[in-house]
Amino acid sequence: MVPRVVFGRGSFDQLEEILTPKRESTKSPFVFLLDDVFKGSSLEHRIPLSGSDRIIYINSLIEPKTSQVDAIRDQIKNSSEVLPSGIIGIGGGTVMDLSKAVALMLTNPGSSENYQGWDLVKHRAVFHVGVPTISGTGAEVSRTTVLTGPEKKLGINSDFTTFDQVVLDPDLTVGVPLDQWFYTGMDCYIHCVESLTGTYLNAFSQSYGEKAQELCDEVFLGNSLSDEVMRDKLMMASWHGGMSIAYSQVGVAHAMSYGLSYLLGTRHGVGNCIVFNQLEEFYPEGVRQFRKMVDKHGVEIPTAVCANLSEDDFNTIINVSMGMVPLWENALGKDWKDIITPQKLRGMYEKM
Ligand code: NAD
Ligand code: ZN
Repeated sequence: MVPRVVFGRGSFDQLEEILTPKRESTKSPFVFLLDDVFKGSSLEHRIPLSGSDRIIYINSLIEPKTSQVDAIRDQIKNSSEVLPSGIIGIGGGTVMDLSKAVALMLTNPGSSENYQGWDLVKHRAVFHVGVPTISGTGAEVSRTTVLTGPEKKLGINSDFTTFDQVVLDPDLTVGVPLDQWFYTGMDCYIHCVESLTGTYLNAFSQSYGEKAQELCDEVFLGNSLSDEVMRDKLMMASWHGGMSIAYSQVGVAHAMSYGLSYLLGTRHGVGNCIVFNQLEEFYPEGVRQFRKMVDKHGVEIPTAVCANLSEDDFNTIINVSMGMVPLWENALGKDWKDIITPQKLRGMYEKM
């Protein structure tokens, strides 16, 4: 679990107070990974830089890659004689994941692709802090960092991955475009549905999942909330949804959306929406509510993304998806392969 967290509008300004005692020496900088959407913004000017601290801008249009993590790690190591005092990620799930991965790779040898999997990390990461600026993925709270490597899209799952400190300031999510707000918010809603209907469900995942789902219902189907309160609630929903899947697992939508993302580069939030929209068979009530949310907010969910795929493409996408064993097992139980065959998946993808 994340050991330290602050929550509240304006809490970003506590960053200096949080970081100062963590500085290892005057030579050891804090490195801020900042979503480049904030380049030149008032938020950038509020970053408490001192000494040799610096900012590395991250373009979130592409989801994190192992090669990118390795390159940022090398850039940081080459520019300073000593390890940084900390890595601070300010942005969405993309920046959260990159920050966690870079912090890990500063203390673990070799390429990040060698650590994609479960509990392969040997050494504690450098101190790392997450400051989300969009709500939904739960990446701020999870023990994974999802990376696309040369062979697979898979997280570095370990106890060392989790942030040491998180700053939850809902004001930072002002300005997220409507579509993106919805797609990333739906990631949270889908986490809840997949966790609460899964076979891995337990008392912890249930209590976090129910709270997150209740908050999502208020945010996406309620009528009387102010924008400020909606931002507060969605940030809390993201946290609770992330905690719910930390104690259980995601399901069919994520297993299939990983395939889309690997082959077509489809981003996580919208990919989940494309898939979830076609999953009445598995999540009838969840999909019914989801469609109400789509209608209420007038957001378009892309269709026909698999219309022009070749045989090879279908084989790739199906293989990636079928490789997500724990997700299928959570969704459908140990005998999931009796239900999910390559032919069945092909038919499902063809509808997307
Ligand atoms: P994102 O980080 O990819 O950002 C989406 C877009 O929103 C970007 O263009 C970004 O610049 C913009 N943006 C972010 N904050 C903004 C703001 N305040 N104002 C204006 N624009 C803003 O989006 P995401 O959906 O949060 O993250 C997706 C990533 O998270 C994927 O890489 C996915 O694999 C990962 N993920 C990780 C976990 C985990 O547990 N580690 C869980 C789910 C998803
Ligand atoms: Zn997700």
